[in-house]
Amino acid sequence: MRVRILGCSGGACNELRTTAIQVDGDVLVDCGTGVGDLTLEEMANIRHVFLTHSHLDHVLFLPLLSDAALALRDGPITVHALPETVAALKAHVFNGVLWPDYSALPTPQNAYIRFAPLHEGETLELGDRKITALPACHTVPAVGYLLESSGGGFAFSGDTTFCEAFWATLNSVKNLKYVMMETTMRDADATVAERSCHTTPILLARGLARLQRPAQLLVTHIEPDKVEQVHTEIRAALGKRQAHFLLRGEVFKL
Ligand SMILES: [Zn+2]
Ligand SMILES: [Zn+2]
Repeated sequence: MRVRILGCSGGACNELRTTAIQVDGDVLVDCGTGVGDLTLEEMANIRHVFLTHSHLDHVLFLPLLSDAALALRDGPITVHALPETVAALKAHVFNGVLWPDYSALPTPQNAYIRFAPLHEGETLELGDRKITALPACHTVPAVGYLLESSGGGFAFSGDTTFCEAFWATLNSVKNLKYVMMETTMRDADATVAERSCHTTPILLARGLARLQRPAQLLVTHIEPDKVEQVHTEIRAALGKRQAHFLLRGEVFKL
């Protein structure tokens, strides 16, 4: 399994892209602006999109991906997401106003996208890969994802504040290799982080204290104007434990 980071920033400007992860050639986890870096051929090869939640920085490229490369595509994109996320996309994005309803076009029987509701704890098998929806605690219904192959596990938090159930679930994952964890805000912004249900360096350290697996920590979703301060606070909060600050374009093989 090949995990390629297309976007890992809390915002989009210059070289920064919002959340999108490509798994092998056919799967995306989240659909932020990083998807715009794919070639038309790469877009045509995407068969499954797994969404963590409905917020724009995680879904905003889905409308454009849906009708990109139609001449090269030989089937619909299946969009896996919580029922609440599917409902939000249908009501507010694919509503015939902001964007056409591509779950019913060009015909309901042969639409460009197909919504497939999933629930926390559910596992889908795609070939020899397993994708499981993990618990998350955010302002809207949200999940993280665990990607597993014979080479090990890659966990992604999605957007979340400290979530006891997320860390407890990871402790049951054999061969967990990577934990990609959002740390959006500085500790100085703890009040805003609490209100918006994001993670700060102190909350990251609290979560890692629960983790009983020797997985590598990958940090994502930092606010673009606070990157240096969040890095410094994470190093201070984690002590001996190493953090890797993700960069767009990085690839992890499992
Ligand atoms: Zn969010
Ligand atoms: Zn976000």
